[in-house]
Amino acid sequence: MNKNLFEVLKTRFPTDLSSPFLKGRQTISYQNLLDRTAQYANALGELGVMPGDRVAVQIDKSGEALMLYLGTIRAGAAYLPLNTAYTPNELSYFLGDAEPSLVVCDIEREDALRGVSGNAEVKTLGDEKEGSIITHVDAASTTFEEVVSDADSLAAILYTSGTTGQAKGAMLSHGNLSSNAKALAETWCFTSEDRLLHALPVYHTHGLFTATNTILYAGASMLFLRKFDIDKVMDVMPEATSMMGVPTFYSRLLQDERLSRDSVKHIRVFISGSAPLSPEVHSDFEARTGHAILERYGMTETGMNTSNPYDGARRAGTVGFPLPGVELRITDPETGGELKQGEIGSIEVRGPNVFEGYWRKPEKTLEDFRDDGFFITGDLGLIDDQGYVNIVGRDKDLIISGGFNVYPAEIEAAIDAIAEVGESAVIGAPHSDFGEGVLAVVACKSGENLTEQDVLNSLNDVLARFKQPKRVFFVEALPRNAMGKVQKKEMREQYAETFQSPKQ
Ligand code: AMP
Repeated sequence: MNKNLFEVLKTRFPTDLSSPFLKGRQTISYQNLLDRTAQYANALGELGVMPGDRVAVQIDKSGEALMLYLGTIRAGAAYLPLNTAYTPNELSYFLGDAEPSLVVCDIEREDALRGVSGNAEVKTLGDEKEGSIITHVDAASTTFEEVVSDADSLAAILYTSGTTGQAKGAMLSHGNLSSNAKALAETWCFTSEDRLLHALPVYHTHGLFTATNTILYAGASMLFLRKFDIDKVMDVMPEATSMMGVPTFYSRLLQDERLSRDSVKHIRVFISGSAPLSPEVHSDFEARTGHAILERYGMTETGMNTSNPYDGARRAGTVGFPLPGVELRITDPETGGELKQGEIGSIEVRGPNVFEGYWRKPEKTLEDFRDDGFFITGDLGLIDDQGYVNIVGRDKDLIISGGFNVYPAEIEAAIDAIAEVGESAVIGAPHSDFGEGVLAVVACKSGENLTEQDVLNSLNDVLARFKQPKRVFFVEALPRNAMGKVQKKEMREQYAETFQSPKQ
């Protein structure tokens, strides 16, 4: 049987294909989706993309962007979405590593991308059905001979930065993505009647797979917003039945006076993830709207692993139970031995959702998997007395700012590259809007002097905006222990108040 994700999703489309799939600046019915993705799949073939080839994409969010995603899957190629904030400097690593045969970018990024895309063909796609790929797509047939894929064939590569600062491409298979779409649609009771308010980016697993694939599996529709703009969100809220968001969405909604029981009366579920949702936001939201936000936990490498129950207590500060088919255990980070209920340790998962490994990094893949197939997530947590998984921290010094992962080592390397800098440490501090804000502590070389603005200016063209520190502090020397390790825990305590005003 064909295990191609698109084929699996297609069997779930509504019988009435004129039903909407997406409503936004563009309206796309399921029939339009079938036709357009066939055109994309045909056009990719014409451009020389073969099954297994990578199609790297750095484009703004649009309905057409999703057609390209699904057309790529249909063609049996691997979709490689790239954060629109990445600079050409960052892209040159991803494209060099992934060696895509086709790069699709926004019209205005074409020149910069051509400089770093190696042998790949470069095409553009603007958000209003414009750009050089459109000529090929418009001319292509709306019928497509389906490509047969195995469950473990490569469907997508999503880059996730390592603690060493070197990005790793997580290889996700057709089986990974379809099993997670099924588990989520069923667990969260999505039906063809649902209209999901979608304000997430589509280059990240949350907006692309968790939201879009689940909606397709349910044959439901999305109210598609370019980004989280509070006025637009409040405008479309009355039409929606459900919303998925990062915690920041919920804290922003709470700051808006229009949020009331009445304004969300058609919503059946609010779902949160990608970073911890604070218990205060959970309870304030419930008090204001009557909705207990449903928090779930996942990551690029695994898709979703756990979820609070749809029916049953959604407990603040927890991420609920393993999804159907997912096994989760807590182990001693040193020995790998399984720990007892209530003990804090490394979260490990196994299941059809867990990725195939890191692209061209077999040694890293080996390191992160146990012999029995469990993946070491790098998160620390426990299973409480009622079986709910609690995440207590991150093994690595990962910072999550506005739902995006920021790895200190990469930022430190960029700061250390400034001539006057002796050493630097990057940490996250609680931020009322972003969850965590990135801040840097810098020690200049003796006799050298820099201002905060000097450091920020130097990073402007080197790092994506979300990775750039929001504050830079200067010290004589970084605090280190006897073993020479920088004491980040103490630094986090010291700088904990930095972003406590919402204006920062
Ligand atoms: P990403 O690969 O960008 O999706 O980031 C995955 C990481 O985000 C996980 O390994 C967790 O550290 C964190 N994460 C995701 N969901 C949650 C959650 N509900 N609570 C706490 N941390 C979360």
